[in-house]
Amino acid sequence: MQADDLAFDKRHIWHPYASMTHPLPTYPVVSADGYELILRDGRRLVDGMSSWWAAIHGYNHPVINQAIKHQISRMSHVMFGGITHPPAIELCRRLVTLMPSGLECVFLADSGSVAVEVAIKMALQYWQASGHPRYEFLALRHGYHGDTCGAMAVCDPDNSMHSIYQGYLPSNRFIEAPKRSFREAWKPGDETSLSALFSDYHQKIAAVIMEPIVQGAGGMRFYHPEYLRIARALCDRYGILLIADEIATGFGRTGEWLACHHANITPDILCLGKALTGGTMTLSATLTIRRVAETISNSAVGCFMHGPTFMANPLACAAANASLSLLEDESWRQRVENIASQLSRELSPLINHPMVSDVRVLGAIGVVEIKQTVNIAQLQHWFVEHGVWIRPFGHLIYLIPPYIISSKALTILIDAISASLDEPENFFVS
Ligand SMILES: *Cc1c(COP(=O)(O)O)cnc(C)c1O
Repeated sequence: MQADDLAFDKRHIWHPYASMTHPLPTYPVVSADGYELILRDGRRLVDGMSSWWAAIHGYNHPVINQAIKHQISRMSHVMFGGITHPPAIELCRRLVTLMPSGLECVFLADSGSVAVEVAIKMALQYWQASGHPRYEFLALRHGYHGDTCGAMAVCDPDNSMHSIYQGYLPSNRFIEAPKRSFREAWKPGDETSLSALFSDYHQKIAAVIMEPIVQGAGGMRFYHPEYLRIARALCDRYGILLIADEIATGFGRTGEWLACHHANITPDILCLGKALTGGTMTLSATLTIRRVAETISNSAVGCFMHGPTFMANPLACAAANASLSLLEDESWRQRVENIASQLSRELSPLINHPMVSDVRVLGAIGVVEIKQTVNIAQLQHWFVEHGVWIRPFGHLIYLIPPYIISSKALTILIDAISASLDEPENFFVS
């Protein structure tokens, strides 16, 4: 890197949810290995974020690297229209086998948001093909499904995304977020607002879309599996499609292979992304049941209307195949369980800290909810100074480390959070 690189970055490059005039600082990372990010000046940071749920095996994994190198020497890309190739076939074969039975038809796309767009379009085409077009979706408050327009329109309506783009976005119906948390006792009646919306609007609703069990970017909330079971039952009763957005939760993060497994349900459409390639390349998959695929295909239109240029990119498919092969021996389960119990032991006591309103743990996810809003720039800087990479947002400081993190490194992450809470005048604004 050159001396003026950071100045150039600041002046010319957008970062996620960033300002061009008052950008938050960025930190130059030149390599990453295992559970560590390596800064330009040689400092190593323990990674608590898995690059947003993705790098579950850690960075620079030899098996995934080897698979990408092997594939690049054959072809890095070829169009998918009229052509198929071994990495895509292997990947779809794996997905059909590994995902709940019935989800037989796979659409590969570029990113999580596009997987959600594809799911939404599948539901729209399904209803149009059935001769009863429907244009509304039911979604949960505090939900997050991505940043493209269709996906934004099913995200929580009260965050800034809707108010900014309101005049443009399609309008959908929102259900009060599930109020019973994962470990609370379920009370009959907790589903009232959900069932009321179904009975009032079922003739208009094309599909229900939800993040199963864990609402991620919309607040890191863990809700009760019974809620998901009831949503599935209501969808069955009214003939409405259920879309499960497992882009963040898939591949073991919550302690089960899919978050849907906590409730033993199978959605009609399933979105996967983030950890699909072990965090190495962008790729997503939308899986659906045969009935949806056939209804769409037997319509007057005769096909599903989507086809990205880089659909089924062979390099990304090869990376995904390698990542899935690393998950095959189920050692992820023990790793996630170990992380969960260490988080429960070491992170949960922070509940007694006066700055903290809640601490929750599910699988390899640990969340500390602060009573005040986090000053991201200052807290981030402090974390980097203390050798950890943790990216807080809103009232939340959370950990979603790579599954391969050592218990010593996880303690470093937890200790950093704990120590930061004792410097409240710098990091938190009421
Ligand atoms: C991250 C995320 C998305 C969007 O995925 P991108 O790859 O960022 O487009 C969608 N849904 C959920 C639940 C996510 O966590």
